[in-house]
Amino acid sequence: MTHSSPAIFLDRDGTLIAEKHYLHRPEEVEIFPEVPGALLRLMAAGYRLVVITNQSGVGRGYFTMADVDRVHAQMIKELRIQGVVLDAIYSAPEAPDQPSRGRKPSPQFFWDARESLGLDLAHSYMIGDKRVDLEAGWNAGLAGSLLVRTGYGAALEKAEAEGLAPAIVVDNLAEAADWILSRPQVKAP
Ligand SMILES: [Mg+2]
Repeated sequence: MTHSSPAIFLDRDGTLIAEKHYLHRPEEVEIFPEVPGALLRLMAAGYRLVVITNQSGVGRGYFTMADVDRVHAQMIKELRIQGVVLDAIYSAPEAPDQPSRGRKPSPQFFWDARESLGLDLAHSYMIGDKRVDLEAGWNAGLAGSLLVRTGYGAALEKAEAEGLAPAIVVDNLAEAADWILSRPQVKAP
């Protein structure tokens, strides 16, 4: 397979939807208002959209993968109404102390997505609100990682102002899209 499509890798909680403590009910899904428009612009520029989420609530026994799937079905449905199509969602259900193949900051799901979707990781970006999101993007060899100030992002920026380089720090997903779309583009064939 050729690896020719750039992608935007997206954290879920605090990045696409409002951070709610161990969210596991579909009715609690609250997509940030700026998100659909930002994702549409990235799609129009040729980026595939891949969500990579740590869901340790499963490993901790707070909820099940079936709950995670229902939350994702709701998120997919609401985004689709706005015209946004997610190419894939990867979830790591393990708690931090459990062995995990893909839990961020592992780059494994990024590599899985590269193989299944034919992605060009060197021209792809990660957007998230936690340090593990940034590190996962760096570990995967992406062009860059962006920290949004939504979710836990603002607190992280305050706590680690000097430790976040080389992340790009932006207010939210709309500003992340602005920054990425201002970079030289690689057109998908
Ligand atoms: Mg998050």
